[in-house]
Amino acid sequence: MAEWTITPLVYGTIEVKKEQLTTGLDVGLPLTVPYLGFYLTDGSHRVLLDNGINAKYIVDGRAWAGSPAQGGEDYVLESLDKIGVSPDRIDCVLYSHLHNDHAGNCRLFPKALHVFQEQEWKELLDPLPSMKIRGDFDQSLIPEIEQLECVKLVGDVEYLPGIRVILTPGHTAGSQCLLVDTKDGVYLLAGDTIHILPIAFPDMTEMILMDGSVLPITPAPRHWGPAVPSSLVYDHYAWFRSVYRIKSLIKDRKFLIPGHEPSVVGTVFG
Ligand SMILES: [Zn+2]
Repeated sequence: MAEWTITPLVYGTIEVKKEQLTTGLDVGLPLTVPYLGFYLTDGSHRVLLDNGINAKYIVDGRAWAGSPAQGGEDYVLESLDKIGVSPDRIDCVLYSHLHNDHAGNCRLFPKALHVFQEQEWKELLDPLPSMKIRGDFDQSLIPEIEQLECVKLVGDVEYLPGIRVILTPGHTAGSQCLLVDTKDGVYLLAGDTIHILPIAFPDMTEMILMDGSVLPITPAPRHWGPAVPSSLVYDHYAWFRSVYRIKSLIKDRKFLIPGHEPSVVGTVFG
């Protein structure tokens, strides 16, 4: 069986209000979360999940929704340098989705194969006006992606031995998660289908921040059920189906790695 290791890469940070990620809970509470990518290797393949926000989307120190942020190409290169991986050595870039904070530096990997869902590509090509307002999809990425060698997946597939891709719409139409075999068990990399752990585990009473400190948080009322959507869900019915499915695929909560979860920084999985 393939055994992968998963190394989180910090491509920058953004300070949000927690209720933007767990709707209705802890209103006004500032929360700094990372822009994350992940380096995956089984000893022969070198795979990257996502490549972070492009510096051009951070204007006067502010990104999405006017939130204070830092990030960009330099952060991506530095995070790879720290683990001794040159961008030229990446064989494959997988995308959880094509929002500008996950695909913004695709041009750094011209030799890699770029892998995303066909449905996600269609949404980037023609987002609804309501999706354009915040600019999550940046259409200036389209010609950049078109210059790269791409694979457009249609649904679920074992893309590499030990890496299964599953289609999980809701945050975007073509969001996908990865199930990754490691010596410790199967981890699920959730992208922005689940930004932070309390979205999937609404009973949580504290979060671990990037510096290791503990932030007390408010659990959701029990009648809210098994998940709390963020303000960034475009299709709630699809999203709940995706999150229920994700929760059915992990052995326990320690195997879930959300796309902006602060507690994973500094840990290597597998
Ligand atoms: Zn997103």
